[in-house]
Amino acid sequence: MESAIEARLVNPSFGDPGVYVKFGARGRALLFDLGDSPGLGARDLLRVSHVFVSHTHVDHFIGFDRLVRTCADRSGTVRLFGPSGFVTKVERRLGSYTWDRRSRDGNGLVLGVTEIDETGRTASAEFAARSGFARTDVPAGRVEDGVITDDAAFRVRCVTLEHRTPCLGFALEEKARARVRADALDRLGLEAGAWLVDAKEAVVSGAADDAPVLATVRGPAGPRPTRVPFGDIKDAFEMLPGRKISYVTDIVFNEANLARVESIARDLDILFIECVFLEADARHAARKQHLTARQAGVIARAVRARQVVPFHFSARYTGREAELRAELERSWRAT
Ligand SMILES: [Zn+2]
Repeated sequence: MESAIEARLVNPSFGDPGVYVKFGARGRALLFDLGDSPGLGARDLLRVSHVFVSHTHVDHFIGFDRLVRTCADRSGTVRLFGPSGFVTKVERRLGSYTWDRRSRDGNGLVLGVTEIDETGRTASAEFAARSGFARTDVPAGRVEDGVITDDAAFRVRCVTLEHRTPCLGFALEEKARARVRADALDRLGLEAGAWLVDAKEAVVSGAADDAPVLATVRGPAGPRPTRVPFGDIKDAFEMLPGRKISYVTDIVFNEANLARVESIARDLDILFIECVFLEADARHAARKQHLTARQAGVIARAVRARQVVPFHFSARYTGREAELRAELERSWRAT
């Protein structure tokens, strides 16, 4: 299925955790976790509009510096989300550097930072490059149904999971999109143009057949903008369903965590999930509050994932990657 989303691990499976999601060929991108990510270039980071941080253990957050350094001179807002205490952690991290104040016609980078606690309460602050990344608090709020971002192209939900510290799990839902069928456009005597943007929105929002749409219609005197009923042109479009992706890492395996993951992630196209230990080391995994490959497979099966991408392999299995993958596969495919 064609999709506007391209999601990939930022590192090999033994490296720091993280997933990079790109929207469209020239579009923007978002990140799940900010570990060390030598595989991401400046161009990749400059596209990033949203960052979702599970928790701030160093392997999930040390990449924050590189993101800020790379983006400090760009304009616009990068939104970051994390668990309880996140805003202060960002403030301290930014406060450990000396910043030259940047005055580019009042523009420049703004970091919009939000933390979400296990009851859904949020606290937010903004840090602008032009003021040396000083903290400006934003009124507290509350998330509904776990939704922390609701954008024209995608929606992200989070849930607080149990690790040695509160840790967020995330689910991204790409919104349904309309695609133009070039052959139908021709057949209906329509000319491609900027009007297609609004028409696609009408398709996605399920406009009534008699709703007026401004289209460019070919006539004897050439193409002209003409108001036509939506029903006359709707065959020029087809709907593409959005994809669902989830990112789950650093959790202890228990019923409560499984239920919480299921509350945001079901019928997934891709589940990115940690697979830190082999089941033979399950007691050690429980102590460390990480998943074994078998446990990750149980979760993948419960959320009906169609594809599973494991990561966060423990260094103790260097050279034994195949065993981790095989154990996950067996558990996920078990009936
Ligand atoms: Zn970790």
